[in-house]
Amino acid sequence: MRQLSQIPPIEKLLNLPEIASYHTILSRTIVAEIVKNQVNHYRNELVQTHQSVDFEVLLQQILVSLAYHNQIRIQPIINATGIVVHTNLGRSPLPKAIWQEVGDIVCNYSNLELNLLNGKRGNRMGMLSQVLKAYFGGEANIIVNNNAAALHLILKTFAQGKEVIVSRGEQIQIGGGFRIPDILADSGAILRDVGTTNITTIDDYLEAINDNTAIVLIVHQSNYYIEGFSQQVDIKQLAARLPEHIMLVVDQGSGNHLSAIPSELSVNNYLKIGPDLICFSGDKILGGPQSGIILGQKDKIEKLAKHPMMRVLRPGKETYAILEKILIHRLNHDGKADNPVESLINQPIAWHLARAKQLAEIAPDKLLLNATKFMIGGGSTPRAQFDTWAISLNSRLSANALIERLRKHNPPIIGVIQNDQVQLYPVTLSDEELLIVKDCLITLTAETDF
Ligand SMILES: *Cc1c(COP(=O)(O)O)cnc(C)c1O
Repeated sequence: MRQLSQIPPIEKLLNLPEIASYHTILSRTIVAEIVKNQVNHYRNELVQTHQSVDFEVLLQQILVSLAYHNQIRIQPIINATGIVVHTNLGRSPLPKAIWQEVGDIVCNYSNLELNLLNGKRGNRMGMLSQVLKAYFGGEANIIVNNNAAALHLILKTFAQGKEVIVSRGEQIQIGGGFRIPDILADSGAILRDVGTTNITTIDDYLEAINDNTAIVLIVHQSNYYIEGFSQQVDIKQLAARLPEHIMLVVDQGSGNHLSAIPSELSVNNYLKIGPDLICFSGDKILGGPQSGIILGQKDKIEKLAKHPMMRVLRPGKETYAILEKILIHRLNHDGKADNPVESLINQPIAWHLARAKQLAEIAPDKLLLNATKFMIGGGSTPRAQFDTWAISLNSRLSANALIERLRKHNPPIIGVIQNDQVQLYPVTLSDEELLIVKDCLITLTAETDF
């Protein structure tokens, strides 16, 4: 006798303390849905296996499902990967001070599209336009939801049905399936590739120009580079030799500006060359909100602003507010919104070592100091590597088992496996997070199976 009626009613299950504790974090509605699904599943299982009701088995199944849902919930994690701008980990964290200032704007009504001088309809760019100009330079600017959108808008506005020349070495795919040729095709532009993967010359570009050419597009090579026999054109020379009516557009990618990363061609250096337009992400090296920033000639920016697609790609008020605040603090050098990447690469190696030692001293034979490199990530070349110290976990547990244990810690700690060992990079931890990781390691290394 299977006694299916012995399964407690849903209401009763929902109120069990170990299940009820999920109500606030997942909502009672979703917890109820999970419980119902698991009960149905269990019922079917009993019918098929002819077993009798075991309440503990059912409860475990429900708790596993609740824990799974708790894990896919968006939540803070600790980035110990040594990759500062990590696409899987929300790219750049925003400065806390900014978030509070922006809260006052986004939790109230604001003048997002109201001109306070005359009471008429205003422009979303408001002051931001001037702030972007003061920070980056360039005649005019506009922002959209992300850099992929920026590139799409530029191509759609200026190259629909026309040819866009791109070097074969720059037809990249960026993590998450962003492929330059796909964006180009979707915008209605026609890709005209020139050169070879490793060599493209100015003459290659010039010879590809025909009556239907609209744009020469330079794309930052982002997450890869070609070593050895390779040659990219001197963009300054290319710009000088391009016919007047051909637009030069640069997808700079990372938003690296001024000297943040010396090995990367920065926004200001590209601007000196004088492209018609340059676009980049707001949430990579720049350290701002997700956005695509476009700078360039006034008439071109105006055309972008008037394109119907702009209405589709415009960001929300949070984005305008955060970007404006961050850049004003940067212009003031008041330390409230410093570029996190720049701050890290300017830290002396003694700072890196001291942080790693704080972790290693917990159990020096199990947590080994490792002189290594950290990376900027998020579409900067792998060449941008900097000295740091990490911790290698020397354990009997497999690296996979360890990395999972850390990931299941509350809050989750994300490390990396290198040479079959789990590595934790203190460089990307805040002081607070360093203490959390320390506590976690004290417990972990004291376990008998470590
Ligand atoms: C990252 C990147 C993009 C895409 O930017 P999103 O802000 O993620 O849309 C486009 N081009 C280059 C060169 C990039 O590095």
